[in-house]
Amino acid sequence: MDVMGRAANRPEHWKEVEWKKPTESLSRRPLPERRGTAIEMAKQSSPATVDAVFHVHEITKIYRMGDVTVPALRGITLDILPGEFVVMLGPSGSGKSTLLNILGGLDVPTSGEVLYRDHNITAGSREDLTQFRREHVGFVFQLYNLIPSLTALENTALVAEISESPLDPAECLRLVGLGDRLHHFPAQLSGGEQQRVAIARAVVKKPEVLLCDEPTGALDFATGKVVLEMLDRVNRELKTITVVITHNAAIAGMADRVIRLSSGMIVETKQNVRRASPSELAW
Ligand code: ADP
Repeated sequence: MDVMGRAANRPEHWKEVEWKKPTESLSRRPLPERRGTAIEMAKQSSPATVDAVFHVHEITKIYRMGDVTVPALRGITLDILPGEFVVMLGPSGSGKSTLLNILGGLDVPTSGEVLYRDHNITAGSREDLTQFRREHVGFVFQLYNLIPSLTALENTALVAEISESPLDPAECLRLVGLGDRLHHFPAQLSGGEQQRVAIARAVVKKPEVLLCDEPTGALDFATGKVVLEMLDRVNRELKTITVVITHNAAIAGMADRVIRLSSGMIVETKQNVRRASPSELAW
């Protein structure tokens, strides 16, 4: 269900330049050779380490609408470590969603490679990408996309049913503070509560990666903070890699690492010495 995200809803004429032909299924390839000085690499990526879960290597993404080409990503190199909480900041149009969609296997780059552990997810077929998403990735979008006719528990259990070794749906709802709202329908829940159900639904399949596209974008300050507290808790308790994209710079304090994008490029990477609790954030 989470694969029916934004990319799938984009207008039909918004086609990427080229869908890479499947050359091989999720292949085991050596990591790409790293170029540049240590300082250049540090500017672009986290410390180069074989333990990284994601190796993103010089990816570009060019969209075409008729005669107009839009370079959404212009050469991104980035590693993401196990259990890391990453906040990606940048103005609208800077390429955040495009990068998130590529990390989550909802889209593929025009050039460059993304390795998830030792699998090259940019070299596989659509089916391989679907399998990658299903097994490893949970998504949380700005709009909650819950099924209105199902309760919070049923919305969460639906994903558990199609997962190999899911967590207990009720436990996931308790984790996000909704233990007393299991049998409520979305219409009986506030926006923040619905977003917390969406988080429970995303983590019930126990993904290694949780990708969040403006998760507090539709929420007021107080409610947004509660949602961030739940993301923080999920990251700490389940050790799920969490990537949150936002244009709200105040959220940066709760991250392990803050990556700033501008015009499709990483222009700044900052490691927080201490992760702030979401309750300390103000905007
Ligand atoms: P952000 O998430 O930072 O707002 P996006 O990744 O959504 O940025 O978009 C980056 C650029 O790519 C923008 O100029 C946007 O208009 C363009 N873009 C994104 N998706 C598509 C698409 N499917 N087709 C054409 N252009 C797109």
